[in-house]
Amino acid sequence: MNTASTVRPEVRIAERAGFCYGVRLAIDKAKHARDEGKDVTTLGQLVHNPGIKADLSDRGIRTADLADQVEGGTLVIRAHGVPRDEFEKVRGKDDVEVIDATCTWVIQSQKAAAQLAADGYTVCIIGHEDHPEIKGVRSYAGEKHVVVDDLDRSTWERVPHTKKIGVLSQSTILPSKLEEFAAFCLRRCHDMRVVNTVCPVTLTRQDDSVVLARDVDGMIVVGGRNSSNTKELAVKCREVCDQVIHVEDADELATDHAGWLAGKASIGITGGTSTPEVDLEAVRDRVYALTA
Ligand code: SF4
Repeated sequence: MNTASTVRPEVRIAERAGFCYGVRLAIDKAKHARDEGKDVTTLGQLVHNPGIKADLSDRGIRTADLADQVEGGTLVIRAHGVPRDEFEKVRGKDDVEVIDATCTWVIQSQKAAAQLAADGYTVCIIGHEDHPEIKGVRSYAGEKHVVVDDLDRSTWERVPHTKKIGVLSQSTILPSKLEEFAAFCLRRCHDMRVVNTVCPVTLTRQDDSVVLARDVDGMIVVGGRNSSNTKELAVKCREVCDQVIHVEDADELATDHAGWLAGKASIGITGGTSTPEVDLEAVRDRVYALTA
């Protein structure tokens, strides 16, 4: 029996949503190595998505949090990358085959951080301090670097008044935040370099999601609570649509938000770069089931 709505809404999934190619490639590399019979471990979680984590675990792919925990076999480095010393530790192990699946965009950020530091710039990185990508990039940024949070302006005071500042961002933050932060840094130095390290994949997803959010009565953003780009997607969608919810999966939609569907003639669905398409389709099917 339908308890949520008497109207069956039109449901549309954003044109470009689901895994980005960086995450997809890392997962494919791990699965391929396992299919070849290798003993596969990943250094850090490849993806925050609970369903994919369970699938990898069912295939016998293990996860190590630190290089010291890796004992032989094949090690896959995740798309977000790992800190430099962790990478060097595993590369130094004779009994470990390293498959580096660090995304090319993240490698560019790491290289930019190292170059800015080598050129004497104080590297100022905007992003989330506890995100794996930032932990990796900052390890290349020299001793003087600072990390500030895009959502907490008070942390921007960590930026010193100094001669040379180099600005970088986490790949998934809003470009407008990078612009705002660069303007802030400009007032604290004489010589500034900004490297635009916002990932184009993130941008296309945001654009498509915003276009869809403008056009529907309600928008569902699907993805892990600790996925930065999923949270950013929700922020962008809320700028153009006042009915936006963020759920981890179809079950959460059914338990916590079934009533929210009532009376909406159109629903949009999008997901972050760590949300597989199958999760988006599961949410779509659940919307249909709840409004049948
Ligand atoms: S979001 Fe962009 S930078 Fe991050 S893993 Fe995906 S493709 Fe690479």
